[in-house]
Amino acid sequence: MKNKLIIVIGGGAAGFFAAINVAEKHPGYRVIILEKSDKLLSKVRISGGGRCNVTNHCFDVNELVKNYPRGNKELKQVFSQFDVEDTIAWFKNKGIELKTERDDRMFPETDDSETIINCFLRQAEKRNIEICTQEEVLSLTFLENKKIEVKTSKQTYLADAVICSSGGHNAIKNYKFIKDTGHTISQLIPSLFTINLPESQLSGKAGNIKELMGLSVQNATVRVEKTKHQYSGPVLITHWGLSGPAVLKLSAFAAKDFHDLDYNAGIIVNWTGDMNEEKVKAVFNEHANSKTFMVNTPLFDLPKRLWEYFLNKADIAFQKPWIELGKKQQNKLAQLLTSDAYQMKGKTTFKDEFVTSGGVNLKEIDFKTMQSKIVPNLFFCGEVLDIDGITGGFNFQNAWSTAWIAADNV
Ligand SMILES: Cc1cc2nc3c(=O)[nH]c(=O)nc-3n(C[C@H](O)[C@H](O)[C@H](O)COP(=O)(O)OP(=O)(O)OC[C@H]3O[C@@H](n4cnc5c(N)ncnc54)[C@H](O)[C@@H]3O)c2cc1C
Repeated sequence: MKNKLIIVIGGGAAGFFAAINVAEKHPGYRVIILEKSDKLLSKVRISGGGRCNVTNHCFDVNELVKNYPRGNKELKQVFSQFDVEDTIAWFKNKGIELKTERDDRMFPETDDSETIINCFLRQAEKRNIEICTQEEVLSLTFLENKKIEVKTSKQTYLADAVICSSGGHNAIKNYKFIKDTGHTISQLIPSLFTINLPESQLSGKAGNIKELMGLSVQNATVRVEKTKHQYSGPVLITHWGLSGPAVLKLSAFAAKDFHDLDYNAGIIVNWTGDMNEEKVKAVFNEHANSKTFMVNTPLFDLPKRLWEYFLNKADIAFQKPWIELGKKQQNKLAQLLTSDAYQMKGKTTFKDEFVTSGGVNLKEIDFKTMQSKIVPNLFFCGEVLDIDGITGGFNFQNAWSTAWIAADNV
């Protein structure tokens, strides 16, 4: 006899992780996953370019939470209960080894997201979790006997507890059944995108920077004009504009500002990383007596073609030796390298990877249990919450940790 009914809304990463952990802990419970589409774990399948970036090798909770533009305060409490090491151990216990790449991203050793999907499906089958696809949850009603009536497109259930892991969406209509329970949904805006630069953005002889697509600089700083946001790291020049980890981080932390500016913003790039004009000129001075052509001495680890682009932009002939570099040109080159200005016009999704900034208001959740403070026995986990991370495995880590806590408390 199954003594309790737990309904999990959404057959994504958080939903499966929660359902499996509930069933593992309480073999006596009946656990049902309701998924509105005909696909299970669809984002896991395409995640990390088909490899699934499961988590990030960041074991210090104070450092880990810095990767979440929204939810970092609340996640401290979450990660103190289930952190990256717990994630690694959980998957290891299920027979999946994770490996760490140079940039700390962690993937299954197989480099295949199907490994994670097969693990979840096997675990669900082993623990008799019922999975219903093409069944959309339409409403949740809290009853006096503390049960929750779950009305779907097919039938009505009387659940002892509901775990809502319905994911992030850009349209508010997808949150209607949650709003109707009395919860508020904070503003939904996209996060994780790259910067589009318009075609007309020509820089005289230098041409359009997009002609240098494919080039990357290991440590540049990108900032949005008129805001406090600036981030450093690799920047990649693409055929539509600027991308790379520093740009994605900027898009996540400045998501609201970009949205308010209608994705039409002044972008300033410091291609030297963190040097100011004076420091850059001091480096030029080291070459002041050199008879070498400037074009043959790219500085600050810039790729040669990007260095040529800046010489052109500063009106410096390729055949000019360092010894003949005048003050005015020196100033211009230093200014361009440290404050190269562009006008952003629009955004592009990064490899189709995007997350929603916004979701269920965090003030309405008890992060010790992931239970709603408004509706007893209603739990939330994953991207449906107003929590999102930058790229690198942080969004899945939020899904695993919040789902584990919800499962531990139903
Ligand atoms: C292309 C891409 C690549 C990504 N790669 C990575 C990565 O490598 N690493 C990483 O950390 N993050 C990655 N992310 C982000 C990560 O996939 C998400 O943060 C994560 O999947 C969120 O999990 P979730 O279970 O909360 O939501 P989802 O995975 O979105 O699952 C929610 C499910 O609920 C269902 N649902 C919604 N409403 C209802 C309803 N009313 N009734 C029934 N079912 C409903 C949806 O159909 C969906 O299947 C990627 C995202 C994308 C788009």
